[in-house]
Amino acid sequence: MVRAGSPPQSSFQDVVQLFEQIADDLNLEEDVRLLLRMPYRELHIEVPVRMDNGSVRVFPGYRVQHNGARGPYKGGVRYHPQADLDEVRTLAALMTWKCALVDLPFGGAKGGVQCDPSAMSEDELNRLTRRYTQNIAHIIGVNRDIPAPDMGTNAQTMAWMMDAYGQLQGHTPGIVTGKPIALGGSYGREAATGRGACIMLRLLCKDLGREPAATSLAIQGYGNVGSWAARLAAQAGFRVAAVSNSSGGTYNGSGLDIPALDRHVQGGGRVGDFAGGDRISNDELLALPCDVLVPAAIGDVITDANCDSVRAPVIVEAANHPLSTAADEALTDRGVVILPDILANAGGVTVSYFEWTQNIQQFRWDEDRVNTELEHVLTQAYRAVRALAQEQKTTMRRAALRIAVARVAEAIRLRGFV
Ligand code: NAD
Repeated sequence: MVRAGSPPQSSFQDVVQLFEQIADDLNLEEDVRLLLRMPYRELHIEVPVRMDNGSVRVFPGYRVQHNGARGPYKGGVRYHPQADLDEVRTLAALMTWKCALVDLPFGGAKGGVQCDPSAMSEDELNRLTRRYTQNIAHIIGVNRDIPAPDMGTNAQTMAWMMDAYGQLQGHTPGIVTGKPIALGGSYGREAATGRGACIMLRLLCKDLGREPAATSLAIQGYGNVGSWAARLAAQAGFRVAAVSNSSGGTYNGSGLDIPALDRHVQGGGRVGDFAGGDRISNDELLALPCDVLVPAAIGDVITDANCDSVRAPVIVEAANHPLSTAADEALTDRGVVILPDILANAGGVTVSYFEWTQNIQQFRWDEDRVNTELEHVLTQAYRAVRALAQEQKTTMRRAALRIAVARVAEAIRLRGFV
Protein backbone atom coordinates (compact mmCIF):
# COMPACT_ATOMS: atom_id res chain seq x y z
CA MET A 1 0.00 0.00 0.00
CA VAL A 2 1.37 3.44 -0.96
CA ARG A 3 0.12 5.99 1.57
CA ALA A 4 -1.40 9.24 0.33
CA GLY A 5 1.05 12.10 0.85
CA SER A 6 4.14 9.86 0.93
CA PRO A 7 6.89 10.84 -1.55
CA PRO A 8 6.44 9.19 -4.97
CA GLN A 9 8.37 5.94 -5.48
CA SER A 10 10.54 5.37 -8.51
CA SER A 11 9.07 3.10 -11.19
CA PHE A 12 11.49 0.36 -10.24
CA GLN A 13 10.46 0.59 -6.58
CA ASP A 14 6.86 0.19 -7.80
CA VAL A 15 7.78 -2.95 -9.71
CA VAL A 16 9.74 -4.44 -6.79
CA GLN A 17 6.95 -3.64 -4.36
CA LEU A 18 4.45 -5.45 -6.54
CA PHE A 19 6.85 -8.37 -6.93
CA GLU A 20 7.12 -8.68 -3.11
CA GLN A 21 3.33 -8.80 -2.82
CA ILE A 22 3.14 -11.56 -5.42
CA ALA A 23 6.06 -13.40 -3.79
CA ASP A 24 4.06 -13.32 -0.52
CA ASP A 25 0.96 -14.63 -2.33
CA LEU A 26 3.06 -17.50 -3.73
CA ASN A 27 4.98 -18.14 -0.50
CA LEU A 28 8.18 -17.79 -2.53
CA GLU A 29 11.35 -18.83 -0.76
CA GLU A 30 13.85 -16.10 0.18
CA ASP A 31 16.60 -17.42 -2.12
CA VAL A 32 14.39 -17.06 -5.17
CA ARG A 33 13.21 -13.62 -4.06
CA LEU A 34 16.81 -12.51 -3.69
CA LEU A 35 17.54 -13.47 -7.30
CA LEU A 36 14.42 -11.81 -8.66
CA ARG A 37 14.55 -8.51 -6.79
CA MET A 38 17.44 -7.06 -8.77
CA PRO A 39 18.54 -7.46 -12.41
CA TYR A 40 21.24 -9.98 -13.23
CA ARG A 41 23.38 -7.46 -15.13
CA GLU A 42 23.29 -3.70 -15.76
CA LEU A 43 25.56 -2.17 -18.35
CA HIS A 44 25.97 1.62 -18.43
CA ILE A 45 27.98 2.96 -21.35
CA GLU A 46 28.75 6.34 -22.82
CA VAL A 47 27.91 6.61 -26.51
CA PRO A 48 29.96 9.25 -28.34
CA VAL A 49 28.46 10.51 -31.60
CA ARG A 50 29.88 12.88 -34.20
CA MET A 51 27.01 15.29 -34.91
CA ASP A 52 26.34 16.70 -38.37
CA ASN A 53 27.84 20.07 -37.36
CA GLY A 54 31.21 18.40 -36.54
CA SER A 55 30.87 18.52 -32.75
CA VAL A 56 30.91 15.38 -30.59
CA ARG A 57 28.13 14.61 -28.11
CA VAL A 58 28.17 11.79 -25.59
CA PHE A 59 24.87 10.09 -24.74
CA PRO A 60 24.33 7.77 -21.73
CA GLY A 61 23.27 4.29 -22.86
CA TYR A 62 22.08 1.22 -20.98
CA ARG A 63 21.36 -2.48 -21.40
CA VAL A 64 19.82 -4.20 -18.40
CA GLN A 65 19.37 -7.98 -18.30
CA HIS A 66 16.86 -8.75 -15.59
CA ASN A 67 16.46 -12.53 -15.52
CA GLY A 68 17.43 -15.27 -17.97
CA ALA A 69 16.15 -18.40 -16.25
CA ARG A 70 13.62 -19.16 -19.02
CA GLY A 71 15.84 -18.37 -22.02
CA PRO A 72 17.84 -15.65 -23.76
CA TYR A 73 17.19 -12.10 -22.55
CA LYS A 74 14.68 -10.23 -24.72
CA GLY A 75 13.61 -6.60 -24.75
CA GLY A 76 13.43 -3.39 -26.73
CA VAL A 77 15.73 -0.40 -26.98
CA ARG A 78 14.31 3.01 -26.15
CA TYR A 79 15.63 6.35 -27.41
CA HIS A 80 14.10 9.03 -25.20
CA PRO A 81 15.32 12.11 -23.24
CA GLN A 82 14.13 10.53 -19.97
CA ALA A 83 15.59 7.06 -20.55
CA ASP A 84 17.65 6.48 -17.39
CA LEU A 85 18.79 3.45 -15.42
CA ASP A 86 15.68 3.35 -13.23
CA GLU A 87 13.39 3.36 -16.27
CA VAL A 88 15.41 0.74 -18.16
CA ARG A 89 15.53 -1.50 -15.06
CA THR A 90 11.77 -1.20 -14.66
CA LEU A 91 11.16 -2.12 -18.28
CA ALA A 92 13.64 -5.03 -18.10
CA ALA A 93 11.80 -6.52 -15.09
CA LEU A 94 8.45 -6.12 -16.87
CA MET A 95 9.92 -8.01 -19.84
CA THR A 96 10.82 -10.97 -17.61
CA TRP A 97 7.21 -11.15 -16.37
CA LYS A 98 5.69 -10.50 -19.81
CA CYS A 99 7.66 -13.25 -21.59
CA ALA A 100 6.83 -15.72 -18.82
CA LEU A 101 3.14 -14.77 -18.83
CA VAL A 102 2.74 -15.50 -22.54
CA ASP A 103 5.00 -18.53 -22.11
CA LEU A 104 7.78 -17.49 -24.48
CA PRO A 105 11.18 -19.13 -23.95
CA PHE A 106 12.84 -15.80 -23.10
CA GLY A 107 14.08 -13.88 -20.11
CA GLY A 108 13.69 -10.12 -19.76
CA ALA A 109 15.96 -7.23 -20.74
CA LYS A 110 15.73 -3.63 -21.91
CA GLY A 111 18.01 -1.05 -23.46
CA GLY A 112 17.94 2.69 -23.68
CA VAL A 113 19.86 5.72 -24.86
CA GLN A 114 19.12 9.07 -23.26
CA CYS A 115 18.68 11.23 -26.36
CA ASP A 116 15.96 13.08 -28.23
CA PRO A 117 15.59 11.22 -31.55
CA SER A 118 13.19 13.85 -32.88
CA ALA A 119 16.01 16.42 -32.70
CA MET A 120 18.58 14.23 -34.50
CA SER A 121 19.15 13.63 -38.20
CA GLU A 122 18.95 10.21 -39.84
CA ASP A 123 22.76 10.13 -40.14
CA GLU A 124 23.23 11.03 -36.47
CA LEU A 125 20.79 8.29 -35.41
CA ASN A 126 22.61 5.80 -37.65
CA ARG A 127 25.98 6.65 -36.02
CA LEU A 128 24.44 6.57 -32.51
CA THR A 129 22.88 3.15 -33.13
CA ARG A 130 26.09 1.65 -34.52
CA ARG A 131 28.17 2.87 -31.58
CA TYR A 132 25.56 1.77 -29.04
CA THR A 133 25.48 -1.69 -30.68
CA GLN A 134 29.29 -1.99 -30.66
CA ASN A 135 29.33 -1.02 -26.97
CA ILE A 136 26.81 -3.68 -25.93
CA ALA A 137 27.91 -6.34 -28.48
CA HIS A 138 29.79 -8.38 -25.87
CA ILE A 139 26.63 -9.10 -23.87
CA ILE A 140 24.08 -9.68 -26.66
CA GLY A 141 23.74 -12.66 -29.02
CA VAL A 142 21.12 -14.81 -30.76
CA ASN A 143 21.11 -17.20 -27.79
CA ARG A 144 22.08 -14.57 -25.22
CA ASP A 145 20.13 -11.31 -25.56
CA ILE A 146 18.00 -10.13 -28.51
CA PRO A 147 17.06 -6.41 -28.73
CA ALA A 148 13.95 -5.03 -30.50
CA PRO A 149 12.32 -1.62 -31.12
CA ASP A 150 10.61 0.43 -28.41
CA MET A 151 9.83 4.14 -28.07
CA GLY A 152 11.92 6.27 -30.40
CA THR A 153 13.33 3.28 -32.33
CA ASN A 154 11.89 1.37 -35.29
CA ALA A 155 12.63 -1.17 -38.03
CA GLN A 156 15.34 1.09 -39.51
CA THR A 157 17.09 1.24 -36.11
CA MET A 158 17.04 -2.57 -35.97
CA ALA A 159 18.51 -2.77 -39.51
CA TRP A 160 21.43 -0.58 -38.36
CA MET A 161 21.87 -2.70 -35.21
CA MET A 162 21.88 -5.92 -37.22
CA ASP A 163 24.42 -4.48 -39.64
CA ALA A 164 26.71 -3.17 -36.88
CA TYR A 165 26.59 -6.53 -35.07
CA GLY A 166 27.18 -8.35 -38.38
CA GLN A 167 30.37 -6.35 -38.95
CA LEU A 168 31.74 -7.87 -35.74
CA GLN A 169 30.25 -11.39 -35.84
CA GLY A 170 29.18 -12.07 -39.44
CA HIS A 171 25.64 -11.84 -40.82
CA THR A 172 23.30 -12.57 -37.89
CA PRO A 173 19.64 -11.70 -38.64
CA GLY A 174 18.39 -13.27 -35.38
CA ILE A 175 20.37 -10.78 -33.27
CA VAL A 176 17.45 -8.30 -33.32
CA THR A 177 13.74 -8.52 -34.01
CA GLY A 178 11.44 -5.87 -35.47
CA LYS A 179 13.66 -5.65 -38.56
CA PRO A 180 12.42 -4.53 -42.00
CA ILE A 181 10.78 -7.40 -43.94
CA ALA A 182 13.53 -7.11 -46.60
CA LEU A 183 16.17 -7.98 -43.96
CA GLY A 184 14.44 -10.96 -42.36
CA GLY A 185 11.77 -9.16 -40.37
CA SER A 186 8.47 -10.91 -39.77
CA TYR A 187 5.25 -10.03 -41.49
CA GLY A 188 2.93 -8.54 -38.90
CA ARG A 189 5.64 -7.42 -36.45
CA GLU A 190 5.13 -3.70 -36.99
CA ALA A 191 1.43 -3.90 -36.12
CA ALA A 192 1.82 -6.66 -33.52
CA THR A 193 1.78 -4.64 -30.28
CA GLY A 194 -1.24 -2.58 -31.34
CA ARG A 195 -2.90 -5.74 -32.68
CA GLY A 196 -2.30 -7.47 -29.36
CA ALA A 197 -3.83 -4.54 -27.45
CA CYS A 198 -6.81 -4.71 -29.77
CA ILE A 199 -7.20 -8.48 -29.24
CA MET A 200 -7.23 -7.82 -25.49
CA LEU A 201 -9.75 -5.03 -25.92
CA ARG A 202 -12.09 -7.36 -27.84
CA LEU A 203 -11.76 -10.21 -25.32
CA LEU A 204 -12.23 -7.96 -22.29
CA CYS A 205 -15.19 -6.05 -23.75
CA LYS A 206 -16.88 -9.33 -24.63
CA ASP A 207 -16.45 -10.55 -21.05
CA LEU A 208 -17.75 -7.23 -19.71
CA GLY A 209 -20.75 -7.33 -22.03
CA ARG A 210 -19.71 -4.25 -24.01
CA GLU A 211 -20.50 -4.14 -27.73
CA PRO A 212 -17.68 -2.58 -29.81
CA ALA A 213 -20.04 -0.12 -31.54
CA ALA A 214 -21.21 1.13 -28.15
CA THR A 215 -17.67 1.42 -26.74
CA SER A 216 -15.72 4.65 -27.05
CA LEU A 217 -11.93 4.72 -26.76
CA ALA A 218 -9.40 7.41 -25.85
CA ILE A 219 -5.88 6.47 -26.92
CA GLN A 220 -2.85 8.36 -25.64
CA GLY A 221 0.16 8.08 -27.99
CA TYR A 222 -0.05 7.88 -31.77
CA GLY A 223 3.27 6.18 -32.50
CA ASN A 224 3.71 2.54 -33.43
CA VAL A 225 1.51 1.06 -30.69
CA GLY A 226 -1.16 3.77 -30.39
CA SER A 227 -1.72 4.24 -34.12
CA TRP A 228 -2.02 0.49 -34.83
CA ALA A 229 -4.32 0.06 -31.84
CA ALA A 230 -6.49 2.91 -33.17
CA ARG A 231 -6.53 1.56 -36.74
CA LEU A 232 -7.37 -2.01 -35.75
CA ALA A 233 -9.89 -1.01 -33.07
CA ALA A 234 -11.71 1.20 -35.59
CA GLN A 235 -11.71 -1.70 -38.08
CA ALA A 236 -13.16 -3.95 -35.34
CA GLY A 237 -16.04 -1.50 -34.92
CA PHE A 238 -14.96 0.40 -31.79
CA ARG A 239 -15.53 4.17 -31.66
CA VAL A 240 -12.10 5.82 -31.36
CA ALA A 241 -13.16 9.16 -29.89
CA ALA A 242 -9.75 10.64 -29.06
CA VAL A 243 -6.06 10.16 -29.76
CA SER A 244 -3.03 12.25 -28.85
CA ASN A 245 0.72 12.38 -29.10
CA SER A 246 3.34 14.60 -27.50
CA SER A 247 2.09 17.60 -29.50
CA GLY A 248 -1.51 17.30 -28.24
CA GLY A 249 -4.68 15.49 -29.16
CA THR A 250 -7.91 15.45 -31.13
CA TYR A 251 -11.44 14.52 -30.01
CA ASN A 252 -14.64 13.63 -31.85
CA GLY A 253 -17.40 12.13 -29.71
CA SER A 254 -18.96 10.43 -32.76
CA GLY A 255 -15.67 8.70 -33.57
CA LEU A 256 -12.59 9.91 -35.43
CA ASP A 257 -12.09 8.96 -39.07
CA ILE A 258 -8.80 7.08 -38.49
CA PRO A 259 -7.80 6.63 -42.18
CA ALA A 260 -8.31 10.40 -42.66
CA LEU A 261 -6.26 11.11 -39.52
CA ASP A 262 -3.50 8.85 -40.86
CA ARG A 263 -3.46 10.76 -44.15
CA HIS A 264 -3.27 14.04 -42.18
CA VAL A 265 -0.35 12.81 -40.02
CA GLN A 266 1.50 11.23 -42.97
CA GLY A 267 1.19 14.58 -44.76
CA GLY A 268 3.11 16.19 -41.88
CA GLY A 269 0.07 17.48 -39.96
CA ARG A 270 -0.08 17.55 -36.17
CA VAL A 271 -2.64 15.30 -34.49
CA GLY A 272 -4.15 18.31 -32.69
CA ASP A 273 -4.71 20.16 -36.00
CA PHE A 274 -6.83 17.36 -37.51
CA ALA A 275 -9.91 18.94 -39.10
CA GLY A 276 -12.10 15.95 -38.15
CA GLY A 277 -11.86 16.60 -34.39
CA ASP A 278 -11.54 19.26 -31.69
CA ARG A 279 -8.11 19.99 -30.27
CA ILE A 280 -7.56 18.66 -26.72
CA SER A 281 -4.55 18.48 -24.41
CA ASN A 282 -3.05 15.23 -23.13
CA ASP A 283 -4.43 15.95 -19.66
CA GLU A 284 -7.90 16.40 -21.13
CA LEU A 285 -7.61 13.10 -23.02
CA LEU A 286 -6.84 11.21 -19.81
CA ALA A 287 -9.92 12.73 -18.17
CA LEU A 288 -12.43 12.09 -21.00
CA PRO A 289 -15.67 10.30 -20.07
CA CYS A 290 -14.91 7.47 -22.53
CA ASP A 291 -15.58 3.76 -21.98
CA VAL A 292 -11.96 2.59 -22.33
CA LEU A 293 -8.77 4.55 -21.83
CA VAL A 294 -5.72 3.17 -23.67
CA PRO A 295 -2.42 4.76 -22.56
CA ALA A 296 0.02 3.94 -25.41
CA ALA A 297 2.85 6.43 -24.88
CA ILE A 298 5.31 6.87 -22.02
CA GLY A 299 5.23 5.50 -18.47
CA ASP A 300 3.82 7.06 -15.30
CA VAL A 301 1.24 9.23 -17.07
CA ILE A 302 -1.42 8.44 -14.44
CA THR A 303 -0.22 9.03 -10.89
CA ASP A 304 -1.83 10.00 -7.59
CA ALA A 305 -1.64 13.60 -8.82
CA ASN A 306 -4.16 13.07 -11.64
CA CYS A 307 -5.88 9.69 -11.12
CA ASP A 308 -8.92 11.33 -9.54
CA SER A 309 -9.67 12.96 -12.89
CA VAL A 310 -9.73 9.63 -14.80
CA ARG A 311 -13.36 8.84 -15.67
CA ALA A 312 -13.02 5.75 -17.88
CA PRO A 313 -14.28 2.56 -16.15
CA VAL A 314 -11.76 0.40 -18.08
CA ILE A 315 -8.04 0.93 -18.77
CA VAL A 316 -6.04 -1.17 -21.26
CA GLU A 317 -2.33 -0.54 -20.61
CA ALA A 318 -0.81 -0.65 -24.10
CA ALA A 319 2.18 1.36 -22.78
CA ASN A 320 4.59 -0.04 -20.22
CA HIS A 321 3.98 1.04 -16.62
CA PRO A 322 1.58 3.89 -17.49
CA LEU A 323 0.11 3.87 -13.94
CA SER A 324 2.07 4.44 -10.76
CA THR A 325 1.33 1.97 -7.97
CA ALA A 326 -0.52 4.67 -6.04
CA ALA A 327 -2.76 5.40 -9.04
CA ASP A 328 -3.28 1.70 -9.70
CA GLU A 329 -4.45 1.17 -6.11
CA ALA A 330 -6.72 4.23 -6.10
CA LEU A 331 -8.36 3.33 -9.43
CA THR A 332 -8.78 -0.34 -8.42
CA ASP A 333 -10.47 0.80 -5.19
CA ARG A 334 -12.86 2.83 -7.35
CA GLY A 335 -13.74 -0.31 -9.33
CA VAL A 336 -11.87 0.58 -12.51
CA VAL A 337 -11.02 -2.59 -14.49
CA ILE A 338 -7.34 -2.50 -15.51
CA LEU A 339 -5.88 -4.85 -18.11
CA PRO A 340 -2.16 -4.79 -17.18
CA ASP A 341 0.74 -3.89 -19.45
CA ILE A 342 2.40 -7.32 -19.37
CA LEU A 343 -0.73 -8.72 -21.01
CA ALA A 344 -2.01 -5.74 -23.02
CA ASN A 345 1.22 -5.10 -24.92
CA ALA A 346 2.59 -8.65 -25.12
CA GLY A 347 1.72 -8.89 -28.83
CA GLY A 348 4.99 -7.20 -29.78
CA VAL A 349 7.33 -9.62 -28.05
CA THR A 350 5.20 -12.55 -29.16
CA VAL A 351 5.68 -11.71 -32.84
CA SER A 352 9.33 -10.91 -32.06
CA TYR A 353 9.57 -14.50 -30.86
CA PHE A 354 8.01 -15.65 -34.15
CA GLU A 355 10.56 -13.52 -36.03
CA TRP A 356 13.47 -14.99 -34.06
CA THR A 357 12.30 -18.55 -34.72
CA GLN A 358 11.85 -17.78 -38.43
CA ASN A 359 15.39 -16.36 -38.57
CA ILE A 360 16.86 -19.40 -36.83
CA GLN A 361 15.04 -21.74 -39.24
CA GLN A 362 15.77 -19.47 -42.21
CA PHE A 363 12.10 -19.73 -43.07
CA ARG A 364 9.26 -17.22 -43.46
CA TRP A 365 5.64 -17.39 -42.34
CA ASP A 366 2.92 -15.48 -44.17
CA GLU A 367 1.04 -12.75 -42.34
CA ASP A 368 -2.11 -14.84 -41.80
CA ARG A 369 -0.09 -17.48 -39.98
CA VAL A 370 1.61 -14.84 -37.80
CA ASN A 371 -1.70 -13.21 -36.88
CA THR A 372 -3.46 -16.53 -36.24
CA GLU A 373 -0.65 -17.74 -33.95
CA LEU A 374 -0.59 -14.36 -32.19
CA GLU A 375 -4.32 -14.48 -31.52
CA HIS A 376 -3.94 -18.02 -30.15
CA VAL A 377 -1.05 -17.19 -27.78
CA LEU A 378 -2.67 -14.02 -26.47
CA THR A 379 -6.12 -15.54 -26.06
CA GLN A 380 -4.67 -18.36 -23.97
CA ALA A 381 -2.80 -15.90 -21.77
CA TYR A 382 -5.87 -13.69 -21.37
CA ARG A 383 -8.10 -16.64 -20.43
CA ALA A 384 -5.58 -17.86 -17.83
CA VAL A 385 -5.31 -14.41 -16.24
CA ARG A 386 -9.05 -13.80 -16.23
CA ALA A 387 -9.77 -17.24 -14.72
CA LEU A 388 -7.16 -16.81 -11.97
CA ALA A 389 -8.34 -13.28 -11.17
CA GLN A 390 -11.90 -14.54 -10.77
CA GLU A 391 -10.88 -17.61 -8.80
CA GLN A 392 -8.65 -15.63 -6.42
CA LYS A 393 -10.95 -12.56 -6.38
CA THR A 394 -8.00 -10.38 -7.29
CA THR A 395 -7.03 -7.91 -10.01
CA MET A 396 -5.87 -8.97 -13.45
CA ARG A 397 -2.49 -7.37 -12.69
CA ARG A 398 -1.92 -9.56 -9.66
CA ALA A 399 -3.21 -12.64 -11.43
CA ALA A 400 -0.94 -12.01 -14.42
CA LEU A 401 2.09 -11.50 -12.19
CA ARG A 402 1.30 -14.61 -10.17
CA ILE A 403 1.36 -16.74 -13.30
CA ALA A 404 4.57 -15.09 -14.52
CA VAL A 405 6.51 -15.12 -11.25
CA ALA A 406 5.56 -18.75 -10.57
CA ARG A 407 6.90 -19.76 -14.00
CA VAL A 408 10.20 -17.90 -13.56
CA ALA A 409 10.64 -19.27 -10.03
CA GLU A 410 10.10 -22.81 -11.32
CA ALA A 411 12.78 -22.32 -14.01
CA ILE A 412 15.19 -20.96 -11.37
CA ARG A 413 14.68 -24.00 -9.16
CA LEU A 414 14.94 -26.48 -12.05
CA ARG A 415 18.20 -24.96 -13.23
CA GLY A 416 19.59 -25.20 -9.74
CA PHE A 417 20.33 -21.45 -9.43
CA VAL A 418 19.38 -21.69 -5.75
P1 NAD B 1 6.71 5.40 -30.47
O1 NAD B 1 7.95 6.13 -30.26
O2 NAD B 1 6.44 4.78 -31.81
O3 NAD B 1 5.45 6.32 -30.12
C1 NAD B 1 5.32 6.96 -28.89
C2 NAD B 1 4.15 7.94 -28.99
O4 NAD B 1 3.94 8.53 -27.71
C3 NAD B 1 4.38 9.08 -29.97
O5 NAD B 1 3.16 9.35 -30.63
C4 NAD B 1 4.74 10.24 -29.04
O6 NAD B 1 4.44 11.51 -29.60
C5 NAD B 1 3.83 9.93 -27.88
N1 NAD B 1 4.21 10.61 -26.64
C6 NAD B 1 5.45 10.76 -26.11
N2 NAD B 1 5.37 11.47 -24.98
C7 NAD B 1 4.05 11.73 -24.78
C8 NAD B 1 3.32 12.41 -23.79
N3 NAD B 1 3.94 12.99 -22.75
N4 NAD B 1 1.98 12.48 -23.91
C9 NAD B 1 1.35 11.91 -24.96
N5 NAD B 1 1.99 11.27 -25.93
C10 NAD B 1 3.32 11.18 -25.83
O7 NAD B 1 6.67 4.28 -29.32
P2 NAD B 1 5.87 2.93 -29.30
O8 NAD B 1 6.74 1.86 -29.82
O9 NAD B 1 4.52 3.15 -29.88
O10 NAD B 1 5.74 2.67 -27.72
C11 NAD B 1 4.69 3.21 -26.95
C12 NAD B 1 4.58 2.46 -25.64
O11 NAD B 1 4.33 1.08 -25.91
C13 NAD B 1 5.83 2.49 -24.77
O12 NAD B 1 5.44 2.52 -23.41
C14 NAD B 1 6.51 1.18 -25.08
O13 NAD B 1 7.36 0.73 -24.05
C15 NAD B 1 5.30 0.28 -25.23
N6 NAD B 1 5.57 -0.93 -26.03
C16 NAD B 1 6.00 -0.86 -27.31
C17 NAD B 1 6.21 -2.02 -28.03
C18 NAD B 1 6.61 -2.01 -29.48
O14 NAD B 1 6.58 -3.08 -30.10
N7 NAD B 1 6.92 -0.89 -30.08
C19 NAD B 1 6.01 -3.27 -27.41
C20 NAD B 1 5.55 -3.31 -26.11
C21 NAD B 1 5.33 -2.14 -25.42
